[in-house]
Amino acid sequence: MSFVPRILKAVSFPAKEHVMAKMNAIQFQPGLSLNDFLEQFGTEEQCAAALEQSRWPSGFTCPVCGGTAHSVVWHDRVKTFQCCSCRQQTTLTAGTIFHSTKLSLKKWFQAMYFLTQTKNNVSALELKRLLGVCYRTAWRLKHKVLQVMVEREQTRKLDGRVEVDDAYLGGELPGGKAGRGSENKVPFIAAVQTSESGHPLMAVFSRVKTFSRAEIKDWASLHLAASATVVSDGLACFASVTTGGAAHEPVVVGTKRKSTSMPCFKWVNTVLGNLKTATSGTYHAFDFYKYGFRYLAEAQYRFNRRFDLTTILPRLLRAATTTGKRTEQWLRLAED
Ligand SMILES: [Zn+2]
Repeated sequence: MSFVPRILKAVSFPAKEHVMAKMNAIQFQPGLSLNDFLEQFGTEEQCAAALEQSRWPSGFTCPVCGGTAHSVVWHDRVKTFQCCSCRQQTTLTAGTIFHSTKLSLKKWFQAMYFLTQTKNNVSALELKRLLGVCYRTAWRLKHKVLQVMVEREQTRKLDGRVEVDDAYLGGELPGGKAGRGSENKVPFIAAVQTSESGHPLMAVFSRVKTFSRAEIKDWASLHLAASATVVSDGLACFASVTTGGAAHEPVVVGTKRKSTSMPCFKWVNTVLGNLKTATSGTYHAFDFYKYGFRYLAEAQYRFNRRFDLTTILPRLLRAATTTGKRTEQWLRLAED
């Protein structure tokens, strides 16, 4: 008897061992341990110093006039920088994602730590418990950090060989109805750029209203370099990826074969599988429809920085200082 199940056949690739070794190098890299985190960011003073250094690496610069000469005044315990040219007073957090926060910077740093170092996502509910804050605060904190990730990733462009697929997230119906056209799900485009040696490099996950040629055209102009080559299945809308100059190699998927078992879609399928595992245990489906684009950006942000877990926190901090004030009301209204 030499019975080999079809599914096993379909997922064995010649370079599998090499790929596994590569993946393990990423999975086993040292992150920022809780101990190291607490040593670096365990006090309010350390967090404030890190924020100041991140926001003004070459020293204070007035956000109004660009002047650098300043004096420091203290209002209660809040460090305030007063510009010598225009007299504007600026706090460390003013005009950043931390604007008007009543929460300690320690809690902010802890939130950013948990949201970047864990493999699977941390929900607002879990953050509430981890930080010892109320649910609403945890929600606001989480969505502000996610918004930083959204804005940092929104100009991400993929180049070279790019596997593209249509996908859905959340809102699984009890009957297990799935696939194209299923109701109550968030449709999104998943795209993974692979290296010449066939390894995944960068990913883009973009929410779309529907898989139409017009939407794919807009998406392609934002996220594909003109020299990219897109590999997709034969779904008609994907023909629009060429509008920005990218080449397109549609692969006809037979009625009996699934694109999930085809080697040319290996990485987009792997990444989608991981994304679904990371989100399914964490989030309630009802959130997805409105805020799905933020959860996708969270996954994309972490995926694209997975090679270096030790710098992901300082890089997020830097991005947080360049993202402006985002109120809770704005966060609740915003739909991509
Ligand atoms: Zn000034």
